[in-house]
Amino acid sequence: MSNRTFAIIKPDAVKAGNTGKIYDRILSAGFNILSAKLIKMTIDQAKGFYAVHAERPFYGELTEFMSSGQSMVLALEKENAVLAWRDTIGATNPDEAAEGTIRKDFATSIGENAVHGSDSDENAKIEIGFFFTESELIANH
Ligand code: ADP
Ligand code: MG
Repeated sequence: MSNRTFAIIKPDAVKAGNTGKIYDRILSAGFNILSAKLIKMTIDQAKGFYAVHAERPFYGELTEFMSSGQSMVLALEKENAVLAWRDTIGATNPDEAAEGTIRKDFATSIGENAVHGSDSDENAKIEIGFFFTESELIANH
């Protein structure tokens, strides 16, 4: 049974030229990429996407950062996709991220941490729907 998750290659990683390397990590980890696009989030999109964090002290910094430049949004498919992707990216804080994870290798701080990953199947569905229409999601098998 295949599940979906939602990923973002965040502006810090795109700016640093790491888009291709991270895309390759996604493929190497066995995810099918259902859709991917390079966008520049508006501040309103960033505020909406991270609305769950609206009361957190870092919300302003986070939404400014996420709308500061290009990012790549991706819909991914794999068995247990949500957990598999969280394992691949590592802990939020790169100082706590395990060896070999994307955040360990590419994140520069807890805020500018290279990638996003959904935290549940329910949120994955909402987050994919935030950036993609169903017809844009292509199962290549
Ligand atoms: P995750 O992205 O690992 O699911 P959270 O959902 O807790 O982490 O937070 C969302 C994003 O907010 C993080 O990826 C990071 O970019 C930012 N963030 C989280 N905690 C902090 C913090 N203490 N200071 C600054 N930015 C933070
Ligand atoms: Mg989260």
